[in-house]
Formats: sequence, C-alpha cells, structure tokens
Amino acid sequence: MAAATADAPTRVAIVTGGASGIGLAISTRLAADGRPVAVLDRDAGAAEAAVAAITDAGGTAIACAVDVTDRAAIDAAVADVKDRLGTPGILVNNAGRDQFGAFLDIDLDTWRSVLDINLTGTFHCCQAVIPEMLAERWGRIVNISSSSAQGGQPYMAAYVSSKAAMIGLTKSLALEFGRKGITVNTIPPGFIDTPMLRKSEEKGLLGGTVEEHEARTPVRRVGRPEDIANACAFLVGEEASYVTGQVIGVNGGRNT
Ligand code: NDP
Repeated sequence: MAAATADAPTRVAIVTGGASGIGLAISTRLAADGRPVAVLDRDAGAAEAAVAAITDAGGTAIACAVDVTDRAAIDAAVADVKDRLGTPGILVNNAGRDQFGAFLDIDLDTWRSVLDINLTGTFHCCQAVIPEMLAERWGRIVNISSSSAQGGQPYMAAYVSSKAAMIGLTKSLALEFGRKGITVNTIPPGFIDTPMLRKSEEKGLLGGTVEEHEARTPVRRVGRPEDIANACAFLVGEEASYVTGQVIGVNGGRNT
C-alpha cells in the first residue's frame, strides 16, 4: 500500500457513484494511495462489494448507500464519514446517469432526472462537504463531467446540458473558494470502458461498436477507468494546489 503523497495529514475522500466503473477505479486508487475512502453509491450491495475489495487489498473504506438526489441522506452520510473516517477533505462527484434520444422526445421527467442526478446531486454534495473543508482550510473537489459537453452531442441534449453545467459550476466554485484552500476541477472523460458504456453499446446507441470507435480514437484504444483515476489522483493531492478551475480532458485525443 503506497503512502498518501506529501499530504499531512492523510485526507479522507468521498467518491459518489464509487461502486462501479470510473467511480470504482477512483475509490480503489485513492485507497491504494493510502487515503480512507467513503464509497457513496445508491447500489448498497455494489458499494459493500467495493469496500470488501479495497479492504482485502489493505485499504480503508466504508460504504454509504445514498442517492445523490436525497439531500438529507447526503448530510447524514457526511456526518457518518466524519465519525467513522474523519473530516472529508476530498470530494469526487462522479455519480451520473446517461440519456439518449431525440430532443423533441425528451419528456420532462427524464430531463429533470438527468439534471437532478448529474447537476443537482453535485450541488448537494458540494454544499454538504465544503463547510468541512472550510473548517480545515483545505479541500479538493473533482467533478466528473463529460467530453460530450466540450463539443456537444446530438441526441444527448439533457445529458450534455447537465454536464456542461457541471463545468460551469466547477469554474464558479474554484473562483469562490480558491482563497480558502479549496481547489475545484473537472475531468470530462471520453469513451471509457465501463458498464455504462457497454450498456449503451448493447442498445446500439454509440453509433458503432467500441472496437470501431477505437479505430477512430487518436491513441487507438478505448479509455480505461484507471485513466480517469490517474488524473483524479493527481488533482486531489497536495502537489496540485495551483491547479483549480480547470477542465482536464482524459479522452485519448478524441477532444482537444
Ligand atoms: P457506471 O454506470 O458504470 O457507474 C456509475 C455509478 O453511479 C453506478 O454505481 C450508479 O449506480 C451510480 N449512480 C447513478 N446514479 C446515482 C445516484 N443518483 N446516486 C448515487 N449513485 C448513483 O458509469 P461510468 O463509470 O461510466 O460513469 C461515471 C461517471 O462518468 C458518470 O457521471 C458519467 O456520466 C461519466 N462519464 C462516463 C463516460 C464513459 O465513457 N464511461 C464518458 C463521459 C462521462 P446504478 O448502477 O444503480 O445506476
């Protein structure tokens, strides 16, 4: 188990959607770096499984079964994390859902659900955790947005709107809290091999197979969840204190 980088003390991390795909890779990596991790996910069983795997590998983690649209549950989870692991200093807003379909066919329930989870969930978690960071005068927030928000994407208007708003929220919070020792950055992943991507492929929603997309990707491979975890591990460290308000694309060159 590697020691946490030059941080003193070791910072506690909360990773939303931390039980699957990109979030699982981030939870696993931050724990391997020596950070206590709260795996916050609405899938309780998957969160427990993630914690078991992290613990088996020598890390420290707890599971919090929480839906990021439920503010009371988030507040309770943050209090629980503080009791069991210590004051959270790192927040990774990764929980998200996708959406595909013609703009004129998007019903209001779908529009609201996408914004509720992707954007308002991020708002709730930031509001719940930032007071803890202010008390420590130290914080790292990483918002997992999407490369689709960098260039737009047809048939994903609700999803892209929610992710573009996350980028705006990231920049605003970076400006508001920079002098308080809190950095806020966003990673817009592009084309990462996760259950979400494979489900979209199965439904024929990707405009080709993953393999066909690989051939059109400058680095000629699909992204791995660990690619996002690597960038995240840097952004949450002490050495990234001069990096804030940034959009750090990790997409194999698909978006530049
Ligand atoms: P996964 O579906 O594999 O993982 C997402 C996790 O978040 C799941 O465990 C999911 O639970 C959980 N989750 C969803 N909604 C909520 C909620 N309301 N409250 C708490 N947990 C929730 O997706 P990925 O790993 O692919 O995606 C992670 C993030 O990266 C998302 O925000 C996604 O939009 C973004 N992203 C992914 C890309 C890719 O290529 N994979 C590209 C660009 C962005 P459940 O299984 O129950 O839904």
